[in-house]
Amino acid sequence: MPAPTCASCHAARAALRRPRSGQALCGPCFCSAFEAEVLHTVVAGRLLPPGAVVAVGASGGKDSTVLAHVLRELAPRLDITLRLVAVDEGISGYRDAALAAVRRQAARWELPLTVVAYEDLFGGWTMDAVARSTAGTGRSRSCCTFCGVLRRRALEEGARLVGATHIVTGHNADDVAETVLMNFLRGDAARLARGGGLGSPGEGGALPRCRPLQFASQKEVVLYAHFRRLDYFSEECVYAPEAFRGHARDLLKLLEAARPTAALDLVHSAERLALAPAVQPPRPGACSRCGALASRALCQACALLDGLDRGRPRLAIGEREHRGGADVQGTRGRAQAAVQAAAAF
Ligand code: SF4
Repeated sequence: MPAPTCASCHAARAALRRPRSGQALCGPCFCSAFEAEVLHTVVAGRLLPPGAVVAVGASGGKDSTVLAHVLRELAPRLDITLRLVAVDEGISGYRDAALAAVRRQAARWELPLTVVAYEDLFGGWTMDAVARSTAGTGRSRSCCTFCGVLRRRALEEGARLVGATHIVTGHNADDVAETVLMNFLRGDAARLARGGGLGSPGEGGALPRCRPLQFASQKEVVLYAHFRRLDYFSEECVYAPEAFRGHARDLLKLLEAARPTAALDLVHSAERLALAPAVQPPRPGACSRCGALASRALCQACALLDGLDRGRPRLAIGEREHRGGADVQGTRGRAQAAVQAAAAF
C-alpha cells in the first residue's frame, strides 16, 4: 500500500506517523512541527528570555544533540546566544568517544564549546575512581547516584565559566516520566514536589535551568535526529546497566504498551501534583562548605565527596549531613581552580 500524502503540506509522501497523534507527515513537515513545539514550550513557559546566554549541557547523545540543533535553529527568533558545555565524568571507554561527537557538533555548528572534568572539579575523583571505590561492596548501583549529583554541579560550574545566564538540558518526556516513577517508588515527596515544572527557576543563586524537550517523546527525538541527519553518539554508558533508572524504563515500556500516552501523562501528572504543606520541600539554604544551594548543612555534592574522601560512600548517600572534622576543599573552591584549566574551544 503506498504511503499516504503528508497531512501538512499535502504534496510529499508521508514518511512517518507521529507516535502521539498518529498524524502522517513527510520528514521536513515533521521537523518543522517538532521545532515549532519546542518553540512553544520555551515561549509559553517563559523559559529563556530575550538576551539570555544559554549553556546547553552537551553529552554527544541524541537528546542534547537534538536540543542544541533545535535551539540553534530557534536562536534568532528567541534572541538567545548558545554555548555548549560538556562534562567529562572520567569514564574510560565511553566518554572520550562521546566528547569527540560533541567536538564535531561544535565545529560544524560553529558554537563555542567548553569541557569541564570531574577530576579537576572534585579533587581528583572520576567516575571510574568512584566505581572502583564502591566495587565489591554491593554499592555499585550507587554510580549513577554519585554521577547525577556531580554532573549537575559540574554543569553549573561550566555554565558560570562561559558567562551563561541559563542552563538547558536535553531531558525528554521519557526521561522525565522515568524520574517521576523513580521518585514515586522511592517515596521521595520532596523531589516529586520539585520535579513537576519545566525546570528550576534558579533559587539560592543557582542558574535557572530548564528542559525544552520535556514534552517531546524519545521516539520523536530519534526521528528528528534521523530526518535532520544529525551526528550523535549512541552507545550506552558502561555503568548504565546497573542503574535503578533501567527498572523505571522497563516499567514505563510496559505502561506504554497498554497506554501509548503514559510518558506524557506522567509528565503532566507531576506538573499537577499538589502536595500537602507537610511534605513540601524545606526552603533551600546555602551549603556550609561551598556555598551552593542546599536543603541541609551540606549540599549533595559536598556530602557525597565527603563520603568518598572518607571511604564511606554509602554513608554519604544515606545521610547527606554535615559531619565535623573533614578537611576537604569545598567543591566551589575546587571548581574555581579547575575552571581556569578547563578546555575551551
Ligand atoms: Fe553517569 Fe550513570 Fe549516566 Fe553513566 S549512566 S554517565 S554513570 S549517570
